[in-house]
Amino acid sequence: MTKFSELNLNPKVLKAIEEAGYESPTPIQEGAIPPALEGKDVLGIAQTGTGKTASFTLPMITMLARGRARARMPRSLVLCPTRELAAQVAENFDTYAKHVKLTKALLIGGVSFGEQDKLIDKGVDVLIATPGRLLDHFERGKLLLTGVQIMVVDEADRMLDMGFIPDIERIFSLTPFTRQTLFFSATMAPEIERITNTFLSAPTRVEVARQATTGENIAQCVVMFKGSRKDREASEKRKVLRALIDAEGEKCTNAIIFCNRKTDVDIVAKSLKKYGYDAAPIHGDLDQSQRTRTLDGFRDGSLRFLVASDVAARGLDVPSVSHVFNFDVPGHAEDYVHRIGRTGRAGRDGKAMMICVPRDEKNLADIERLVQNEIPRLGNPLQSATPPVDGTAEEVRKPAPRSRSRSSKSSNTPLPESIITEAVSEAGPVSAPEPKSAPEHDSSERSRAQQRNAASGNKVIGMGDHLPSFIALSFQERSAS
Ligand code: AMP
Repeated sequence: MTKFSELNLNPKVLKAIEEAGYESPTPIQEGAIPPALEGKDVLGIAQTGTGKTASFTLPMITMLARGRARARMPRSLVLCPTRELAAQVAENFDTYAKHVKLTKALLIGGVSFGEQDKLIDKGVDVLIATPGRLLDHFERGKLLLTGVQIMVVDEADRMLDMGFIPDIERIFSLTPFTRQTLFFSATMAPEIERITNTFLSAPTRVEVARQATTGENIAQCVVMFKGSRKDREASEKRKVLRALIDAEGEKCTNAIIFCNRKTDVDIVAKSLKKYGYDAAPIHGDLDQSQRTRTLDGFRDGSLRFLVASDVAARGLDVPSVSHVFNFDVPGHAEDYVHRIGRTGRAGRDGKAMMICVPRDEKNLADIERLVQNEIPRLGNPLQSATPPVDGTAEEVRKPAPRSRSRSSKSSNTPLPESIITEAVSEAGPVSAPEPKSAPEHDSSERSRAQQRNAASGNKVIGMGDHLPSFIALSFQERSAS
């Protein structure tokens, strides 16, 4: 097995890796670090949880340890789709550059930017940013990108989903042609392929296997659920969620509950809280301090249930989650893979449970096609005396045959009236009427992207989000030891 010490990394970086407790590189690190250190472009096809962040931070620190930053001209740039991911990348730099004198700045929305301006004025080695904020800053004349020697695009497929590709292309065109590019994406959609063909030069392609979605350590199941009446479905569905959680009992030490829409994230979190569950929401419309507080609580174990949208939860490093509940079937099959990958990490056992209403059956079929497996059906926990939730052969119902007629076969009988009456008003004032909203994206960032697209003639529909002032955050400069 390869050791980090064989990878030609700076000894001070090796020391920090050792202190972080890592011995051997993960496959993406083993594949990406050597070509990156040789100055080659890298195309990394890997998703979060594979160690991909260190696969670009470690060679970057090694390369940047030589040389000095110039005023307003960052030497390297890391682009991330969301604030949380950008902050996580910044944390990685803190961890691995602790023995190297490097300066960095973080340009993301929702945090004050005074000190970042000063840092950038002085010159930074690493600039970590979301695309919209970076361009805002650039347009204000505060920043020059002509000194960028290394540019990283992280989670490019998510950038695509969020409408950032025009921004990314613009940023590429503002950096020198001679820069080195390290580009990461979990999937290679045609648009991503086009970007890499345009902006990467003979990249070394490193692909690590998709996270196993049917791995033995992640038990999966889905409850096929139909509300007794359309207007009661939402509240009855929340009741099903609570029943699933209750049935798991102490086995469920902590969980991420995914909803497709921001409004549902809020409603589900509020409803759970009302019923005495320790839950908090996270999505792109919440202010940054609240998002940070919620995440910190979830990481340190003081918060048990994180109710999240895909964008907010994407890429978050939460080491041990016992359960993932998909309150909604995700609209993109790929998101199912990302969601359930939050549990069963590092070989631990995990459980992924999903609720599917009739209109989501097509999406469920897409997921099963993608993961090439049928997800075991589970009896409606509200209808069984002892809810069958352990995923054993006896308890789990056989999957419905893969056919167009599934929806009629899998529709469960309505809930008993007593349960319905209890459930109808349980989510408090936010539950009625349930607003329709688009699937969640980091709205302030996305709306900037949309504005730019509109300005450049690309039609983008929708928006209505406010544009919060952008801000940057200060990091302590670490001294060399
Ligand atoms: P990432 O895919 O970058 O989000 O990383 C996922 C997790 O893997 C993080 O908690 C890292 O700290 C951890 N990690 C990164 N590199 C290694 C390694 N070589 N060995 C073990 N864990 C690692």
